[in-house]
Amino acid sequence: MITDNYLEVRKKIDETCEKIGRNPEEVTLIAVSKTKPLSDIEELIKIGVTEFGENKPQELKTKYENVSQPVHFHQIGHLQTNKIKYIIDKCVLIHSVDSVHLAQAIEKEAEKKGIDSVDILIEVNYAQEESKFGLNKEEVIDIIKEISSTCSHLKIKGLMTIAPFVDNPEDNRVIFKGMKQLSLDIISQNIHNVDMSVLSMGMTNDYLVAVEEGATMVRVGTAIFGERNYNI
Ligand SMILES: *Cc1c(COP(=O)(O)O)cnc(C)c1O
Repeated sequence: MITDNYLEVRKKIDETCEKIGRNPEEVTLIAVSKTKPLSDIEELIKIGVTEFGENKPQELKTKYENVSQPVHFHQIGHLQTNKIKYIIDKCVLIHSVDSVHLAQAIEKEAEKKGIDSVDILIEVNYAQEESKFGLNKEEVIDIIKEISSTCSHLKIKGLMTIAPFVDNPEDNRVIFKGMKQLSLDIISQNIHNVDMSVLSMGMTNDYLVAVEEGATMVRVGTAIFGERNYNI
C-alpha cells in the first residue's frame, strides 16, 4: 500500500513536470515518515527510496540508528537549539532554520563535532501565519546575510516554507510563486556561501501546485503513509 502510494505520488510529480516542461529529476520527493514506524520506511527502502523527512530530532536519531541501510534523513520540523546535537551528523539537510540564533548554535555544534559543512534551508513564514515558525519575507535577506557572515560551517542551500492549510491548493499558488521570486532575489545578491538550489515547498494537499511553481523538494507524508495518529 505504502509502496503504491509512493509510486502514485511520484508519477503525479513526473506528469506535472512533463506538462509544464520541467525535468522530473529536478524534483526530489521526500517521504515524510514522522510518527510512522521504521517498518514503513523499510518498505520504501525496498523500492529504492532514499529521502525521508522527520519532525522530531530524537525520532530522526532513533530511526537513523536502526534503519537497515543508510538513507538520507531531512530535519523538516522546528528545531530547538538543545536538540541540534541529536541530528547534526545524521541528517542530510536541516529545512527549518528560522533565526540567526539557531544558525549560530548549529555552527557552534558543527565546530565542536569537527563537521566541516552543514547544509541548511531558511524557513520562511510567507503567509505570516501566527501559528507557524519561519521568518517574515521582509527579513529573510538580512538574516541570510548575517548567517553567511558569521557561520562559516553552514551552507545555505535554499528556502523552505509550510504553506497554509487550504481547501483549494490553488489558493497557495501565490505563496509558491512568491517563494520562487524571493529565491531569485537572493541569488541576485551573490551572498557568500549561499546558493538557492533548493526550494522546499509543497505537502500532501498542494505539492503539485508547488511543483508547477518551481519546488525542487516536496515533503509528502499523508498521501504516502496515510493519516497520522499523534497519540501513540
Ligand atoms: C508533516 C509535515 C509535512 C507532511 O505533511 P502532509 O500533509 O502529511 O504531507 C511536510 N512538511 C512539514 C514541515 C511537516 O511537518
